[in-house]
Amino acid sequence: MKMNLMKTNSPEMMKQSIANSLFRHIILLLLLATGSTFASDFMSQLQAADIVRSSNPSLFSSKLAAIRKHLPELSTNELLYLQYLTGYELAFNGEILAGVEQYKEILDSNASNDLKLRAELSIVNEYAILKNWEDGLKYLSSALKQKDSITDQNLKVMSFTVAALFYNALGQYELAREYAEQLINQTELPRQKCLASQLLVESKSKLDELSATSDEFLASKTQCNAANEVVMASIIVATQAELFLKDNQPKQAIKLLEAQFPELQKVGYKTTIGVFYALLSEAYWTLGQEKNAYNHAQKAVAILKIQAPLNGPKTRAYKVLYEYYRSHGDDTAALDAYINYAEADKANLDEIKTKTMAYQLVQHQSIEQQNRILLLNQQNRLLKLQQKLVENESRTQRDLIVALMCVIALLIFSAVQSWRNQRHFRKLAEYDGLTNIFSRAHFTAMAHQLLQHSQQHQESVSCVMFDIDHFKQINDSKGHKTGDWVLRNAAQSSRQLCRHNDLLGRVGGEEFCILLPQTNLKQAKEMAELLRQRLSTLYTSDSGYDFSLTASFGVSDTIASGYKLEGLMHDADQAMYQAKSSGRNRVCCFVVNECNSLENETPLTPSQSNQL
Ligand code: GH3
Ligand code: MG
Ligand code: MG
Repeated sequence: MKMNLMKTNSPEMMKQSIANSLFRHIILLLLLATGSTFASDFMSQLQAADIVRSSNPSLFSSKLAAIRKHLPELSTNELLYLQYLTGYELAFNGEILAGVEQYKEILDSNASNDLKLRAELSIVNEYAILKNWEDGLKYLSSALKQKDSITDQNLKVMSFTVAALFYNALGQYELAREYAEQLINQTELPRQKCLASQLLVESKSKLDELSATSDEFLASKTQCNAANEVVMASIIVATQAELFLKDNQPKQAIKLLEAQFPELQKVGYKTTIGVFYALLSEAYWTLGQEKNAYNHAQKAVAILKIQAPLNGPKTRAYKVLYEYYRSHGDDTAALDAYINYAEADKANLDEIKTKTMAYQLVQHQSIEQQNRILLLNQQNRLLKLQQKLVENESRTQRDLIVALMCVIALLIFSAVQSWRNQRHFRKLAEYDGLTNIFSRAHFTAMAHQLLQHSQQHQESVSCVMFDIDHFKQINDSKGHKTGDWVLRNAAQSSRQLCRHNDLLGRVGGEEFCILLPQTNLKQAKEMAELLRQRLSTLYTSDSGYDFSLTASFGVSDTIASGYKLEGLMHDADQAMYQAKSSGRNRVCCFVVNECNSLENETPLTPSQSNQL
């Protein structure tokens, strides 16, 4: 069953034709059931206009005109609702594109989702009337995307109806059947049930899922008759009659069509009347009732010529006319009818082709779009991965840097520790723990260097050695602690007299050695004498005991003993031994003659000798 979407020659005719198109008729049926309650006065006025828009177009227009006088008082919602109705009014009066513009503006506005959906569905409807299948499909698929989130039941029904209607008109019968089946379950209203069953019967018969004698025809016809929907019932009859003709049962077709025809003619819906005439003409022709066939074909052509672009029925009627003229020998009229038949047939085929192409194009575009979205998603995922990678990398780098810094800090710490330890142990090794002057080993090492250097520069070095006199007695009588005190004070006194470059070391239990660079024997002896005096006058009471302290000194120099430390110390030791043996508390030099002459200058005082 084709829609009565006729292209007509004069603009006025077109307007009239479009205004009366079946599409609009069906949508109007639906809209009668659509409506909601509005709070404001203007809203209720707009709603009142909405309700009468199909039943009384002129009342509808005057109601809109009355509301337009109060434009500044209208709220945004009211203005948008008015715009929607204005779109409808324009389209109804034949200015379809202007109407579509109004609807599109609503889609771009902040209107409610429900109003936007109504506008979208209206656009689909108008594009179907204009046979702009491609744009119609785009808006339809956009509207259907929301189908699961629609809460308003009437809008849901309207969406499914428009979908089934549009797909039937487009020749996409499987989709049409799908929506028609859903539609039947969505509504209980007799009028909507009738419409749904008509759409279902139409799609199923096109899909060869119904035979002419199917019960579904009777059921849907009964449904529509109950709802007083004569046009819908007639369309169902026409669909069934077409199947009878296909099965070569013209009598059945005629019976069916003639039974419904009076009712249809009462309603006066021209397009379907034209379809009935065309079907009847073919049925009568098949039966051999030529005159009857001719009459019906003429009536069909007269209506279908101007009423609607239903090329299928037109083809049917012109074919009957052509065959009639030919069998009656009227070649001129036959040729004329044939040309019309061929044109209608071609237009019919073209239309089918255009629809198929439009559907495929939109399908292709939507696949393209899906692919593009898929690609974008992939790219997006890739970007996110890259970002994650960069984040991970920088985190890894940061961790690495922190780890490195920890390692470096640890290394520095352990280096400092080890340096401290080394310094500590070196000090332990280099310094004598009790007196805090050079140990024997370190003194020896330093003395070697000094002597080597002095030898190179031919500078004389002197060596002073001294040993505490009767130290054993001090230890024994005053205790080891006092002995230690003596050792510390002897070292301290020595250090006080030493110059910066002099080397002082504890070389035995209570034996000390001083190496004096750039010093001759005489100077060394003077220094030893000074030290001897300082020790002998040391205030010993600080140790807790009052006692006399003396030491015996031996002095040698590199002139007599050479630059070997062992020789130098040996000779100093010899001189010291001499000092001990000659009475202690004196300085003796290795140069025997000189020492002898000097030795007497530092005799022990009697008191000292007694003390010891
Ligand atoms: P002389 O006058 O002949 O040198 O007699 P002396 O008693 O000093 O004899 P000797 O040199 O043999 O005595 C050394 C003593 O020094 C023996 C030892 O107990 C003591 N001594 C060695 N090292 C230390 C020390 O670090 N502290 C103390 N308190 N005594 C020490
Ligand atoms: Mg000794
Ligand atoms: Mg001694």
